[in-house]
Amino acid sequence: MLILISDAFDKGLPAKLARFGEVTDDTSRLPDADVVLVRSKTKCTKEYMDGAPKLKLIIRGGVGLDNVDREYAKAKGIVVKNTPAASSIAVAELAMAFMAAIPARLIEGHMTMVNGQWAKKELKRTELFGKTLGLVGAGRIASEVAKRAKAFGMTVIAYDPYLKESDYARLVPLDELLAKADFISLHTPLTDETKGMINAASIATMKDGVIIINTGRGKCIVEPDLAAALRDGKVRAYGTDVWFSDPPPADCPLLTAPNVFMTPHIGAETKENLLRIGVEVEKIIESFAGTA
Ligand code: NAD
Repeated sequence: MLILISDAFDKGLPAKLARFGEVTDDTSRLPDADVVLVRSKTKCTKEYMDGAPKLKLIIRGGVGLDNVDREYAKAKGIVVKNTPAASSIAVAELAMAFMAAIPARLIEGHMTMVNGQWAKKELKRTELFGKTLGLVGAGRIASEVAKRAKAFGMTVIAYDPYLKESDYARLVPLDELLAKADFISLHTPLTDETKGMINAASIATMKDGVIIINTGRGKCIVEPDLAAALRDGKVRAYGTDVWFSDPPPADCPLLTAPNVFMTPHIGAETKENLLRIGVEVEKIIESFAGTA
C-alpha cells in the first residue's frame, strides 16, 4: 500500500504509518497512491481523483470536508474519512483566546507599547464575568467553548436547530440569541442555511456593541455588512480565524475595518492537535487495512 501524505501532519506520523506500507510526501507519486492524507491545502477535486487511479481512501485530518468532492469520490468508490473529534480543544481554546483578548485590550495594549505609547487612560477594559455568550452551533467545539466560558462566569446560550438539548448551554431560538448575547461565537459548518447568516439584517437585531468571534467558517459572514457595522460601532469587535478564501484577497473589507482581530486559519494548528489527528489517522488506516 502506498500512503501519500499530501499536507502538513505531525512529523512523527510517517514512521507510525510505515507498518501499513510505503509512506511518501512526494506528491508526484499521486498516480500510485492507495491512500491520500490531506488537511486543507490539497483540494481533492474531480481532476485530482482522476489523476489517482489506484486511490481507495482519502483521509482529511480535520473537521470539515469542504476540500473533498465527496460525491465524485463516492461515484469512484473512494472512501472519504475525517477526524471530527480531534480538533475541538484546539479550536475552542482559540475562540476563548479571542474572547479573552478583545475585551482585555491585549492586542492594542501590546501594540501601543511596541510603538512607544503609554495608553493607560485610553485602553478601558471590560470583563467576561456576568456577560452572555451566544453560541451559534452547539456541537463539539461549541461545547468546549461553553465549558471554558462558564469558568469565566459567563451565561451560555446556544442556537442549534439540529439538537434537542445540550449539556453545556441553554438552547434558544436564533432571534433570542441575537438579542441577548454580548458575545456571539460561530461554530457551525458552512451550509446553505449558515452561509451569510451574519448579515445586515441579523446584525441589526443584535445588542449594540456586540463582539463576534468566528472560528467556524468565513462564509457564514457577509463581509461588507460586518465591515459597515464595525465602522459605525454597532459591532464592537470581530475576532476571526476564518476567511472567504485562505488567504483573504487584499481587497477583503475586513482587513481594513476597525476592531478586527485576526489569525490565519490556525484554529486546528496546535502541536497537540496534530498528534491527536495522527492517532485518528492511524486508527482509520488500521481498520481500512483490515478490511481492504
Ligand atoms: P460539530 O458537527 O460537532 O458541530 C456543529 C454543530 O453545528 C452541530 O451541532 C450542528 O447541528 C450545528 N448546525 C448545523 N447547521 C446549523 C445551523 N443552521 N444553525 C445552527 N447550528 C447548526 O462540529 P465541530 O467539531 O463543533 O466544528 C464546527 C465547525 O468549526 C466546523 O464545521 C468547521 O466549520 C469549524 N472548524 C474550524 C476550524 C479552524 O481551524 N478554525 C477547525 C475545525 C473546525
